Amino acid sequence: MSQMALTFDDLPVHETRPPGRSRLGITQAIIDALRSQGITHACGFANTSVEVDHPGEQAEALFRAWVGAGFELGNHGARHLNLNRRTADEFLADVDAASSYLHERFPGAPGAHFFRYPYLAEGDTPDKRALVREAIAARGLKVARVTLNFGDWLWNCTYTECHAAGALERLPILEETFLDAARRALEAARVTSHALFGRDIPQVLLLHNGVFTARMLDRLLTLYRELGAGFIPLDEALADSAYDWSHLTCHEPRGESGYSWFHQLANARGVAATLPLEPPEAEVRRIRKEVKEGTTPSPR
Ligand SMILES: [Zn+2]
Repeated sequence: MSQMALTFDDLPVHETRPPGRSRLGITQAIIDALRSQGITHACGFANTSVEVDHPGEQAEALFRAWVGAGFELGNHGARHLNLNRRTADEFLADVDAASSYLHERFPGAPGAHFFRYPYLAEGDTPDKRALVREAIAARGLKVARVTLNFGDWLWNCTYTECHAAGALERLPILEETFLDAARRALEAARVTSHALFGRDIPQVLLLHNGVFTARMLDRLLTLYRELGAGFIPLDEALADSAYDWSHLTCHEPRGESGYSWFHQLANARGVAATLPLEPPEAEVRRIRKEVKEGTTPSPR
C-alpha cells in the first residue's frame, strides 16, 4: 500500500492544446475525473501572471472552477521562472507576486501555503539554493517536493501534435505508453523509497494541467488503486519526516531543470546509480519525432 498526494502543475496554461479545447475545459475534465474517483484532495499549482502573459485563457475562471470544486491552489510563481537562470531576488519577487494574487483573489482558499519550484529547479549554486529555501520558509510557504513523476507533460504536447498531423491512429499507443510509464514510475518510486528510508513513504505525484493528462486521469487513478495506492492530502504527505530538507547535504545535483526529491536524496547519499529514478520516455519521444517528420509508424 502506498499513500499518495496528487498535484497538478501549471494552472491555467500548460503545454499545447488541440484547436477547440479550452484551458477551462481541460481543467474541468481533471476536476470531473477526480470527482468520479471520489477524490477530495488534490493541489493545483498556479502561475498567476497568465492573465497578462496569455490573455483570453480564462485564467481566473479556471482558478475559480478549481477552488470551487474544493481543491487546493498553491503557488508555482507568477511567471514560472527557472531559479537556475534567475537571481534569488528576481525569483522571490515572482513568488511574492503569486502569493499576493492568491490571497487577494482567493482569500481563505486552501493551499496557498504550498510552493512548487517551476521545473523543480532549486538553484544552480549552493548559496542560492540555501538562501531561497530559507526565504521561502520564512514566508510560511511549504515546498511541495515530488517523488513520483513520469513526465506526463511529454504526452500532452505529443497528443496535440498527433491532432495537428492528423495522426490520431497513434492514440492507442500514446494511451498504452502513458499508463505503462505511470506503472513503472510507481514501482521505481517504491524501490527507491525502500532503499532510502526502509519503508514506503507517502509519495507526492507530479502531474500537469494538460490535455492528455485530463484524458487519461480516470484510467491512471484506477491503475494506481489497483497497484495499491491510496490518496491523501498534500499536507499529510509532506508531514512525513522524509520531506525534511535537512536530509540533504551539499552534494545535490544541479542542472537546467531540477530533480525529484528522491533523486536529490539519492544523489546526496551517493546511491543514485543503483536506483531506477526516472522512467524512460524513449517510446513517446520516438512517436513525437515520427509525427513531426510525417514518417510511417515503425513497428513496435
Ligand atoms: Zn510548472
